[in-house]
Amino acid sequence: MPNLYSHVSPPVETFSANGRTYRKPRRPTLAICADGWDPAYIEHAFAHGLMPRLAAARVRTQARAQVPTFTNPNNVTIVTGVSAADNGVAGNHYRQAGRELQVTDPSFLTAETIHAAAQAAGVGVLCVTAKDKLRALLAYGGVPAFSAEKAHEQTLADGRPVIEAAGLGANPGIYDWRLSVYTVDLAVALAGVLDARLVYASLTDFVQHSAAPGEQLSDDFYRTIDRSIGDALDAGFVVGLVADHGMNAKPDVRFLDDELSAGGVRSHHTLCPITDPYVAHHAALGSLAWVHLDDPSELDRARGALAALPGVEAVLDRSAAAQAFELPAERIGDLVVLGDKHTVLGKSAAAHDLSQLHGTLRSHGGLHERRVPLIISHRLSDDALAGRELRNRDLHDLLLNHLA
Ligand SMILES: [Zn+2]
Repeated sequence: MPNLYSHVSPPVETFSANGRTYRKPRRPTLAICADGWDPAYIEHAFAHGLMPRLAAARVRTQARAQVPTFTNPNNVTIVTGVSAADNGVAGNHYRQAGRELQVTDPSFLTAETIHAAAQAAGVGVLCVTAKDKLRALLAYGGVPAFSAEKAHEQTLADGRPVIEAAGLGANPGIYDWRLSVYTVDLAVALAGVLDARLVYASLTDFVQHSAAPGEQLSDDFYRTIDRSIGDALDAGFVVGLVADHGMNAKPDVRFLDDELSAGGVRSHHTLCPITDPYVAHHAALGSLAWVHLDDPSELDRARGALAALPGVEAVLDRSAAAQAFELPAERIGDLVVLGDKHTVLGKSAAAHDLSQLHGTLRSHGGLHERRVPLIISHRLSDDALAGRELRNRDLHDLLLNHLA
């Protein structure tokens, strides 16, 4: 019998988050935050045939990351779809009332996440992160969120152990190159168990901090994770991938508190917003630092001392940095200091334990890690990319609103 109503298209179901409207996913959708995947890794992997599944993606372009190019601000910009100025997360760490705080609690967010808004509109959602430090932020609004790092301690809402429900083997450790691969596998397996249609998987950049493109470790990693991405595609997912930041070798270090003391500045506190519990990745050294001053009259002297340092490419005051990089002015330093492509910034020589590093320091945080790959498995509508400068925070807009 003919369907009399077949000419009536169903209404497009949407939800909104932070002033942007998104369509509910028509197909299972996996958004991946590929931690530290500098475009150089992708170029090498594609040129050497390491990633045949990802190389077959219909959209292969680049986007700009949020500055500072650190993990938490960029994961949060991707899952909220708005800048740090709007979502409140400008670093992994920040200083409040004279104390440094790790940004892990959802109460830091000043915007909602796309996943929380989608769930409130009836979409099945799921977040899986490699590093447990991100799990609480991703769980904002009651979103089911698990970490590969601590999967052995976690259970589903029905009490089943996560690893058992996913049907996977034991989870690798935080300094094991397979942890990101496991994260993708866990996300795909749990999506099936929980019937999630909008899935976010956030990887770890341990491999990228440790190995340049073309080294054995990174080649093994990209070859292996391509198979997991292929499994997601074979399971019917639309896959979109963007990085939180790039990665560069950074052999030069400047210790800003030491330099400020030598320059006659009396009351200075350098904060490294890259700081997190994973010291073997980067020894808390990145290419952007905040400097807080107790005495505002020392601002010009401090700026002068910092700007004169070799390897420092810019020193901005609070309001100029907030404007230039879309940052929440009250959550950054009085001065924002940027190291060049090969220079990282620390507090003092005594404050950073370089002995924990694996080989040469590779890190991120500044302007030279701002270009990131943006890859989508399926075709987008013809006008999707026209006339816009892509940001990594546009990933969900592209995946949900612009598939062809
Ligand atoms: Zn990262």
